[in-house]
Amino acid sequence: MAHTRTAIIAGNWKMNYGLKQAREFVQEILPALEQVVASYPHILSILCPPAISLETVHAILSEKPVPHIELGAQNMYFEEKGAFTGEISPLMVRELCSTVILGHSERRTYFGESDEQVNKKTLAALIHGLRPIVCIGENLEQYEMGETGEVIHTQIKGSLANLPTQQAQEIVIAYEPIWAIGTGKAATGEGAGKVVHLIRHLYGEMYGSEAAASLRILYGGSVTSGNISEFIAHPDIDGALVGGASIKADFVEIARKMVETMTQVVG
Ligand code: PEP
Repeated sequence: MAHTRTAIIAGNWKMNYGLKQAREFVQEILPALEQVVASYPHILSILCPPAISLETVHAILSEKPVPHIELGAQNMYFEEKGAFTGEISPLMVRELCSTVILGHSERRTYFGESDEQVNKKTLAALIHGLRPIVCIGENLEQYEMGETGEVIHTQIKGSLANLPTQQAQEIVIAYEPIWAIGTGKAATGEGAGKVVHLIRHLYGEMYGSEAAASLRILYGGSVTSGNISEFIAHPDIDGALVGGASIKADFVEIARKMVETMTQVVG
């Protein structure tokens, strides 16, 4: 992980933990997580509970704000308000969150989200001062057919088109190979690192070398405290988007291992 970029450890709780469980879980992990993020100057942790639990977690985080722990939503719509039943808008997300996950593969697969829609959401997030974590990644078949590069190329060009140049550095990309999500079969640090390197290169073609150098790119897919070091040790990988392990105490352990590895790598 390059010294100049702040690392991110984000937890995507998916559809887990309503109000009571969210409160209990955050109260359980917060003291240790605070200690970990306070022990390294260039790390940010982002908790992404389901929309219904955002306010509960927000209230706990607001009691004693820790500068390096933030809140994120798992999705949002791109319109500001109106007749869009079941959706939440950037303005609503902004009331509680700094960040929003967009284009997660589960949204692309189960809810038919296209690159075009992800792009509209990304632009809306930037307009409203939200930090988008835009997810991209190939499925198993594409991986086995050697099509990863092509898929990544299409997703980046589509999901991240037309960004205002001055905001291109605010984007975070999560490279999440779909075959690694929730399967227990993580990519290797080297394999993920190659794709992440390609992502940075493609982003540079779109928005210039300065934006590419500042871009944070996370790896996601079966990350645990047992394999995080492998990913964060790669110079192009700036952190992780964690699913399954983010609703367990292991999330803090992952953050701790990340800090330990970054301290060894960059001193
Ligand atoms: C995810 O949902 O973004 C994810 C990476 O899940 P998991 O860590 O469970 O593979």
